[in-house]
Amino acid sequence: MAESSAVETVVLDGLALAQKLRGEMGEEIQKILAAGGRAPCLAVVRVGDDPASASYIKGKRRAAKRIGMESIEHHLPEETREDELLALIDRLNADDDVDGILVQLPVPPQIRANAVAEAISGDKDVDGVGPLNAGRLLMGEPGFFACTPLGILEVLDHHEIPIEGAHAVVIGRSMIVGKPISLLLQRRNATVTMCHSRTRDLAELCRSADILVAAVGRPRMVQADWVKPGAAVIDVGVSEVDGELVGDVDLEAVKGIAALVTPHRRGVGPMTITMLLHNTLLAYRARTAV
Ligand code: NAP
Repeated sequence: MAESSAVETVVLDGLALAQKLRGEMGEEIQKILAAGGRAPCLAVVRVGDDPASASYIKGKRRAAKRIGMESIEHHLPEETREDELLALIDRLNADDDVDGILVQLPVPPQIRANAVAEAISGDKDVDGVGPLNAGRLLMGEPGFFACTPLGILEVLDHHEIPIEGAHAVVIGRSMIVGKPISLLLQRRNATVTMCHSRTRDLAELCRSADILVAAVGRPRMVQADWVKPGAAVIDVGVSEVDGELVGDVDLEAVKGIAALVTPHRRGVGPMTITMLLHNTLLAYRARTAV
């Protein structure tokens, strides 16, 4: 009888990995405080009353507080004009006690998200949304890059997934996930295929991936026959189906095929917040270095 060739699939515990990294950052901040230094400070700006934004900000501020990082929130009314928001960003750019600035998206329609991204000082742009950091990413320079892609790299490294020489297929080309993860993987010498809604033969491309990143927002689009045996499958997408949150990857179907898969719960989500804290700590270190 032929032996089963099923792969033993590791399902990422993103919360455990996030807590380990946050613990290390917390220890560093305790040392800074014990030496008489000030705590790193993240300023978050929310415009309007979108409940999802309120909840994301709450999670980010709670995570910051737990590691001893200061966070301040500016909550502006829905009708805030673009020039008013840009004036606040200017003040935060000039504030020596603020290390990182994050404006929670989406912003109301009277405000251009690109104008906001351009207004944040490149050295405080800890969410990696502005053109200076996009340029640094493209040019292979150090900088602040989008937090979900940075979290994905941490996951791959933690699980010792080889990146150099690997074929990485990224589904999605947004500025916050698809584009930056494609460039970051390419910087680590992966051969990257970036896919989107007009890509032909998507399933076939995915089947050739050693690393498959799904960042679309289409429930369970990645099925068993899209996955190469032994691949690392990173599920970024989150959609709501019948009141339940669902990922882009059919987790149960790819078990036994993928070597590593990230679940949509306790997957890359906690890593995204962790990398925001990491970027803020980097900004603090750069700003306080003598
Ligand atoms: P987005 O800006 O809407 O981009 C989605 C991408 O998917 C686009 O590039 C689009 O292609 C592509 N796409 C749409 N339908 C497709 C199809 N049928 N086949 C192939 N590609 C298709 O989304 P995003 O901001 O990158 O977020 C993607 C997902 O990740 C969302 O579900 C979001 O909620 C989730 N997310 C999760 C986290 C986390 O921390 N867990 C963080 C960020 C985002 P076109 O460019 O051609 O339109």
